[in-house]
Amino acid sequence: MLEIKDLHASINGKEILKGINLTINKGEVHAIMGPNGSGKSTLASVLVGNPAYEVTKGSVTFLGQDLLSLKPEDRSHLGLFLSFQYPVEIPGVSMVNFMRTAVNEKLKYEGKEPLSASAFLRMMREKKELVQLDNKLANRAVNEGFSGGEKKRNEIFQMAMLDPKLSILDETDSGLDIDALRIVGEGVTKLRTPETSCVVITHYQRLLDYIKPDIVHVLYNGRIVKTAGPKLVLDLEKRGYDWIKEELGEL
Ligand code: ADP
Ligand code: MG
Repeated sequence: MLEIKDLHASINGKEILKGINLTINKGEVHAIMGPNGSGKSTLASVLVGNPAYEVTKGSVTFLGQDLLSLKPEDRSHLGLFLSFQYPVEIPGVSMVNFMRTAVNEKLKYEGKEPLSASAFLRMMREKKELVQLDNKLANRAVNEGFSGGEKKRNEIFQMAMLDPKLSILDETDSGLDIDALRIVGEGVTKLRTPETSCVVITHYQRLLDYIKPDIVHVLYNGRIVKTAGPKLVLDLEKRGYDWIKEELGEL
């Protein structure tokens, strides 16, 4: 699905990612954890093609294609989805219209016909139920005046509608209440299939009470310094990140 090799990336001339290696297979859920400032969000931004970051070395293959040479919108059409830590509000554009455009753009990229109005509404209804999105949210402008929990639910709804091959969920280090964590966790679990993969980036051990990752990585100072099974989450909860720095000989 995704293969990252020796990825280095900088912002404003400062190197943030210092050689990331990561392979994600079909059907897997990976968690990427790590202290603040270690480069987790940078990795997500580089993968979706945020132009603020410069890739200085390394390669990324997604579904057999050279991901880094693709435009951000083509990455999305190919099936890469990134949740936003700070979702944008789009006043005046209803969720319905926003999603209809997004879904039809993707179909066009795949060489398929756009959905008819009734087929689209049927799809909306089905996915809305799946993620328990309130009807009133679907009819409002995108994210306008949404609460934190509502934005999260909306994000999971967008994910359900776009049916991505690989979802990257970058969760903020602050401001996610228990409710929002549960919404994200349940959503990801419901949308999980043997054909799709997910990367959950989090600072919180708690989120992983709801999402059971297959593989857990610790990103520290621009590198993945530890990879293990789900038990690593418990170790981190108990011991924090300092023991990892100790192992690296930094303390
Ligand atoms: P994380 O998501 O793991 O908390 P980030 O990827 O957001 O970490 O940030 C990694 C590092 O990049 C931090 O040290 C941060 O200060 C730095 N950084 C982020 N944006 C910029 C920027 N625009 N200019 C310089 N440094 C930046
Ligand atoms: Mg971050």
